[in-house]
Amino acid sequence: MLHGLIVAAHGKRYDVELADGSIVSCVTRGKKSELACGDRVEIKRTDTADGVVENFLPRTSLLYRSNEYRKKLLAANVTQILIVLAARPSYYPELLDRCLVAAGAEDIRPLIVLNKADLPESAEALARLRLYEQLGYPVLALCAKRDIAPLLPWLQGHTSVLVGQSGMGKSTLVNALLPAAQARTREISSALDSGKHTTTAARLYHLNGDSHLIDSPGLQEFGLAHLTPDQIEHAFVEFRPYLGKCRFNNCRHLNEPDCALHNAVAAGLIAESRLLCYHKLIQHPV
Ligand code: ZN
Repeated sequence: MLHGLIVAAHGKRYDVELADGSIVSCVTRGKKSELACGDRVEIKRTDTADGVVENFLPRTSLLYRSNEYRKKLLAANVTQILIVLAARPSYYPELLDRCLVAAGAEDIRPLIVLNKADLPESAEALARLRLYEQLGYPVLALCAKRDIAPLLPWLQGHTSVLVGQSGMGKSTLVNALLPAAQARTREISSALDSGKHTTTAARLYHLNGDSHLIDSPGLQEFGLAHLTPDQIEHAFVEFRPYLGKCRFNNCRHLNEPDCALHNAVAAGLIAESRLLCYHKLIQHPV
């Protein structure tokens, strides 16, 4: 049995990197394919370049989204999520809240990255992101095309997953961070013939010995069907001091009388937009 790390997920095939740096293209046994990029696995070779995943090791975190029917695993064992936004094309604010809730539920540290900071519209976007900064979420404005240096200290020592809508410049960011690694990946992929016929769900790159980056495809939606209303309300960090203080124990903070969250909004202690967003997420988690 060999130990390895899933460095790319293509549908039901996984590229597994072994300790010597070689890559084996693996399938799972039976219908079991609940694996993600970043998973540590045990494999058996069936050939020089092919193998079967026999087992996966316990995860420290698993970032995924879900609807009523299925889960979509994004990345395993990550410590940080980089949510990439841009002022043009305009980003979908609810997607940001959904990413933050999913990350909060798995204790993954978020970093909000406003890319294309040189655009004139960026000042307004940054002003809107100030609310998140006040909540304790770091916000970093940068222009990945010109200078990626401001991001580097944030990545050190972390396994970070990059998420974002398409058009936010996520691939520009990856290219700026990893020109050499990407060229190598293309070589490996064509040698293994993997990833040619299926879309690649995610790919892991090594930035250095203890910093890694997982790139995931552009998102248009982020379903949270896997979270309970309790988990969702706890993921709104500023709600926590008020939870359990409503008149009704089972208060969902909708129209119930004497709701501590509504009172906090009325007193200007919680932004109304966040309470409305919470309503939307518990009523329409998908
Ligand atoms: Zn309430």
